[in-house]
Amino acid sequence: MGESVAGVGTTMVVKELKTCFDLGVLTPAALSTNNIFLSHAHTDHCGEIFNYLAVRALERRNLATIFAPPAMARELSQILNQWQTFAASAFDYRIIQCYPKAPVPLKNQTTVTALELAHEPATVGYLVEETVQKLRPVHDSLPAYEIALRKKRGDGDLFYEQVRPLFAYVPDTLPEGLDALPEAAWQARVLAVEATFLDDRKPLDKVRQGRHLVLDDILERLPRFTGEHLLLFHFSKIYTPEEIVAIVDKRVPPEWRHRVKLFL
Ligand SMILES: [Zn+2]
Repeated sequence: MGESVAGVGTTMVVKELKTCFDLGVLTPAALSTNNIFLSHAHTDHCGEIFNYLAVRALERRNLATIFAPPAMARELSQILNQWQTFAASAFDYRIIQCYPKAPVPLKNQTTVTALELAHEPATVGYLVEETVQKLRPVHDSLPAYEIALRKKRGDGDLFYEQVRPLFAYVPDTLPEGLDALPEAAWQARVLAVEATFLDDRKPLDKVRQGRHLVLDDILERLPRFTGEHLLLFHFSKIYTPEEIVAIVDKRVPPEWRHRVKLFL
């Protein structure tokens, strides 16, 4: 759920995870989400944070937790302090610094890890993973009551832990950022990747100056993706929604097309 237009505003709420990735547009779903993960300081990705906190203060909502890469988190903390003085308001929030490769707990058995991307200013994506207890195959033939009994006894040998990548959010980046993604991001059930430009309407050197991807960058790397759905977002406003669908229909290989979803 949400909205995303490159340079205008990106907000992606994952209801199942009760999280929101970036806050460039203030949507009702974002407003009622307590956990906000910010990727970088460009205003189309975080500019609505003031409004989000101000409206939540008016509505007396619960504490909001803002996750951000370390440099951004430090600056944002100062700016929010200044803004509260400036606006004579008090916001209810905390800021958590997200270091790449250091998972932060989200809820029971679910963590979020920042992914280093190639964009300026310093930008991260996020990987949401869930740890589940799986019965060891050697116990497959055990009846349910026996499993329950052993579980009650605290039999440590019964299960093993499996980490499942659920969702990866990959906003603004050069192709180097895609290449640096951990395998788990490519295995995520849903991998959301920015696809700012879709064809050569914008010269490639200009695309790279803006530190963005073109659809070709993603198409070249399709075989790495083993999850269910690849969600393309952050399209440039030079394309209408109809053009986006037409270009993607034409350029994504037919055997992949049903797995590619568009965040329009
Ligand atoms: Zn950006």
